Amino acid sequence: PEKASAFTGPGRRLTVLSGPSGVGKSTVVAELRRAHPEVWLSVSVTTRKPRPGETHGVEYFFADNEEFDGLIASGGLLEWAEFAGNRYGTPRTPVLDKLAAGVPTLLEIDLQGARQVRATMPEALLVFLAPPSWEELEKRLRGRGTEPEDVIARRLAAGRIEMAAEQEFDLTLVNTSVQDVCHRLIALMADAPEASRPG
Ligand code: 5GP
Repeated sequence: PEKASAFTGPGRRLTVLSGPSGVGKSTVVAELRRAHPEVWLSVSVTTRKPRPGETHGVEYFFADNEEFDGLIASGGLLEWAEFAGNRYGTPRTPVLDKLAAGVPTLLEIDLQGARQVRATMPEALLVFLAPPSWEELEKRLRGRGTEPEDVIARRLAAGRIEMAAEQEFDLTLVNTSVQDVCHRLIALMADAPEASRPG
């Protein structure tokens, strides 16, 4: 019964998508942005440098360390975490505004961030995106070809820890295809019965 009523109020429309680096979270988010404009995707702030093709204000707001410190100090972030040498955070006000307006809202954040949201907004639905296999995850991380080996090694190490955290999530989606994951996520956010069971 608790699950059935989990998406009824505006405050319950918050969904968090997390999972190991390289699992395909950003591909899923890009497809959602394209195919489901009715879902609002939070744009995080990061101190990471933009990758080729990334646009300020679309994938991220790119900030320097000083700006990021300022956001933390002023309470401007709903959650934030350090990941593989860079900091990432969710701007607080836009999320609260969208939730208050009843807009289905998705955060794509790392595990540490997901834990913070769990603690501060217990009504959020936490979805773990899992790779079909660990070998597949390693292949994807290397295949991206955008990061040097030491960065890949840090991300793989972080990923091993993140994989163990699956049990803390409300449910797992296995990333066999981007379309399938998007379909299931949308169904979850719309509270469709087909998506009420894990898997
Ligand atoms: P990337 O550098 O590959 O874009 O992201 C690295 C990791 O940071 C990913 O696991 C991504 O989900 C996470 N991330 C992106 N934005 C945020 C955020 O606002 N907060 C937290 N905690 N993690 C984030």
